[in-house]
Amino acid sequence: MSVTDTAKHLSEKEKESLDVAEGARETEWTKPSFVAELFMGHFRSDLIAPYPLQSPEDKAIGDEFMGRLEAFLRDNLDPDEVDRTGDLPQRVIDGLAKLGCWGMKIPKDYGGLGLSQINYNRAVALVASYCGSTAVWLSAHQSIGVPQPLKLFGSDAQKKKYFPMFAKGAVSAFALTEPEVGSDPAQMVTKAEPSSDGKTWTINGNKLWCTNGLVADVMVVMAGTPSKMVNGKEKKQITAFIVEKGTPGIEYVSRCDFMGIRAIQNGVIRFNNVKVPSENILWGEGQGLKLALITLNTGRLTLPAASAGMSKQALQIARNWGKERVQWGQPIGKHEAGAVKIAAMAASTFAQEAMTYYTSALVDKGGADIRLEAAMSKLFCSVASWKIVDDLMQLRGGRGYEKADSLRKRGEKGYAVERMMRDARINRIIEGTDEIQHLFIAREALDKHMRLAMDLLNPKAPMTKKMTALAKSALFYPFWYLRTWLPTGLWPRFAGYGSLGKHMRFVECRSRKLARTLFHQMVKFGPKLERRQNILARLVEIGTELFAMATSCTKAVELEKQNPQEKGPRELADLFCRQARIRVRQYFHGVCCNTDVRDSKAAAKAMDGGYEWLEKGIVADDGSGFKGKK
Ligand SMILES: Cc1cc2nc3c(=O)[nH]c(=O)nc-3n(C[C@H](O)[C@H](O)[C@H](O)COP(=O)(O)OP(=O)(O)OC[C@H]3O[C@@H](n4cnc5c(N)ncnc54)[C@H](O)[C@@H]3O)c2cc1C
Repeated sequence: MSVTDTAKHLSEKEKESLDVAEGARETEWTKPSFVAELFMGHFRSDLIAPYPLQSPEDKAIGDEFMGRLEAFLRDNLDPDEVDRTGDLPQRVIDGLAKLGCWGMKIPKDYGGLGLSQINYNRAVALVASYCGSTAVWLSAHQSIGVPQPLKLFGSDAQKKKYFPMFAKGAVSAFALTEPEVGSDPAQMVTKAEPSSDGKTWTINGNKLWCTNGLVADVMVVMAGTPSKMVNGKEKKQITAFIVEKGTPGIEYVSRCDFMGIRAIQNGVIRFNNVKVPSENILWGEGQGLKLALITLNTGRLTLPAASAGMSKQALQIARNWGKERVQWGQPIGKHEAGAVKIAAMAASTFAQEAMTYYTSALVDKGGADIRLEAAMSKLFCSVASWKIVDDLMQLRGGRGYEKADSLRKRGEKGYAVERMMRDARINRIIEGTDEIQHLFIAREALDKHMRLAMDLLNPKAPMTKKMTALAKSALFYPFWYLRTWLPTGLWPRFAGYGSLGKHMRFVECRSRKLARTLFHQMVKFGPKLERRQNILARLVEIGTELFAMATSCTKAVELEKQNPQEKGPRELADLFCRQARIRVRQYFHGVCCNTDVRDSKAAAKAMDGGYEWLEKGIVADDGSGFKGKK
């Protein structure tokens, strides 16, 4: 079957996947969002300034806890040993429990630490800067595992039962992925059937890559439940169940071994007629996917915090090594090629923190819709930290590629750059791949336009819908569109920003250009825009850069108010913005000038074997492993 035939064959499944994803979306925008406004060309500086720095009281709580956590890690956790053995020692798990780390986000009323989102993220960043595996243990438990959905959607009885367990050190996991279900939950095969009296549900299926799953005391398990008829149409249901360890029928099939974060307990779990009481349903029947998405809005902030923590470590190593290592008569950090890497690391780390902690502060404050800000933070920071670790490896040269133990054995400093690299890469895959983040952000960014005008542009839409869309569009677009062309960037604004004012003006102007470009693409492609993933990705990247620029500037200004002598934040915000402006221009250019269509054709030909001749002269890997003599 050719790629074109496969595409036709898949279109029904694709529609089903889109329907399920749409069904799980939060449809309303009742709370403000800086980024959602940005995509509409509205630069709402009031939503981003003054930058919400951590309050002194909350900071004091955090500082005290971080001090104890850091001391514990230094004294008890050898990250190279953890990586080498692939195991997190029980005494470390117990020690973390004693510190309250498994209950960082559990409210104090239930015996947890009740940390703010900012302090929780600071803790994860601290751990991630030191040991990626341990950070993932903690975050899989708290960001997507049971505590977070329980906090948001749990019944009182569920909270009373499970929160105190976690506060004492019980570990949890989140099981969504299956062999056929990665980015696309509509294809879920795991099923839960209700008993005839409705008191219990029986789960059957396989879950793949469930982090902490092999050791978890409690798991959230996603399963398909019987479809419902909604407006005469069958609607797939996915439901979230709390499943306790030791429930008969849970089989731990195998532990997975990964390139990095080698000590995570991640595996294949089989559910063979696993019976759970109906009071273990979280939120409600059919609400599972929505629960997962809403949980991830906040949960996703852990990854950018961890990425920023790793980036700080990389910066620290890079600047020391940049000074220390002399080649061709100069420290390598003074050669321009090295200098740009170190400078970019510092600027990018500042921006990563600015966007992540801005969004975390919104979580603590409440009253804001953070779905776009959190997704952008995840996208930006996981990619930026990967680039930073890659640059660090380059700066370290051969030593970057050598294991820390090996470096120490021959008397050198054992910076664990290769471990950092192995640990960092996964962040661009879990909790939404880069590509899925692009699609998710684009969908949300286009929401207002889709509500107003999509039916108008859709040739298949019925006439009544077209007329309604026409009426709504006629009221909205003329004024809105004209407004996106107003040269408001020329008006004197942002006086309080000093040298950063020009960057804020750039964000303002480009947000309007972004909004009209998005609109132009929508008019050009109509509903087919959905398929132009690379155009959407560029527009999402522009929005992300603008968000990072704006938070960097507002944070720098706020930090400067606290300490006027310290010019570092302003310098880094300025540098980041200058670099981001170049990228923004390139992305805009790429919207019209690209090879996307040719790329798709070439990829289809490649997949149909059209370039097989290019693969001659290799020992082809068919994935079945070594078959010769041992
Ligand atoms: C170490 C590790 C820990 C994990 N922990 C957990 C966990 O605790 N719980 C859990 O449930 N899962 C977990 N996962 C699963 C993880 O969330 C998935 O790997 C991730 O969602 C991607 O799914 P996939 O690997 O099947 O990739 P696929 O969905 O098969 O995607 C493969 C590639 O295709 C791209 N792609 C997919 N769909 C589209 C599309 N529509 N348009 C464009 N590109 C597309 C993806 O971006 C990716 O690049 C873990 C995975 C790993 C490796």
